[in-house]
Amino acid sequence: MRKYFFNRLLHVFFPSRCWHCTEELIAEEKFLCCYCDQELERVYYGPINVHLLEEIDCYGLYFYEEKSLVQKLIHGLKYGHIKQLGFELGFRLAATLPKSCLPQLILPVPITPRKCLERGYNQSEWISKGFQACTGVRMNVKLLKRIKNTPSQTQLSKRERQKNVDGAFKLAQPLPPGINHVGIIDDVLTTGATLQQVVKVLNAAYPHLRITIFVASIARG
Ligand SMILES: [Zn+2]
Repeated sequence: MRKYFFNRLLHVFFPSRCWHCTEELIAEEKFLCCYCDQELERVYYGPINVHLLEEIDCYGLYFYEEKSLVQKLIHGLKYGHIKQLGFELGFRLAATLPKSCLPQLILPVPITPRKCLERGYNQSEWISKGFQACTGVRMNVKLLKRIKNTPSQTQLSKRERQKNVDGAFKLAQPLPPGINHVGIIDDVLTTGATLQQVVKVLNAAYPHLRITIFVASIARG
């Protein structure tokens, strides 16, 4: 209760504004006003099957389209230094999931140490932090390592993308004992080529491991 009043007070003196339209937010709103929020197109509800990822269930929060608000949010998260956006997206993503799909451990898709130095953080880690805060499922950032940087994939065909990310990841640590279901977390799923590589690395070491994919956004088509 005390926290609630403190937040109200904070809001009166420092009104926060909608990240998109800059309208003043009411205390219950976070980042976006309710009007802008309606622009975000939810992926309802069950798992999506992605061709490259075969049997693996993928859960997504919003549809990703060119020039959409979702694209702006992801851009802000990756290039605008607004890492709290990742937390918010991860929390929202986790909030609507059925309990049966929740893993025992979450693994954010890593970026190379060099990229991390440039950006200051890994966006998927921030999505995972929100996911963790909502579900209590712990994240592990040491297990997967990215050893190869992949240049922007947007201009590449599906086959080129697959080649581009081949051998990009490795397992740096074994899974903790007793873990038989992990979740992989990423910001955008386009063809699934990147996530396919992560799955491949995990499957090679743990053929019976259950893997579920959770992404903040999924490209249409
Ligand atoms: Zn707004």
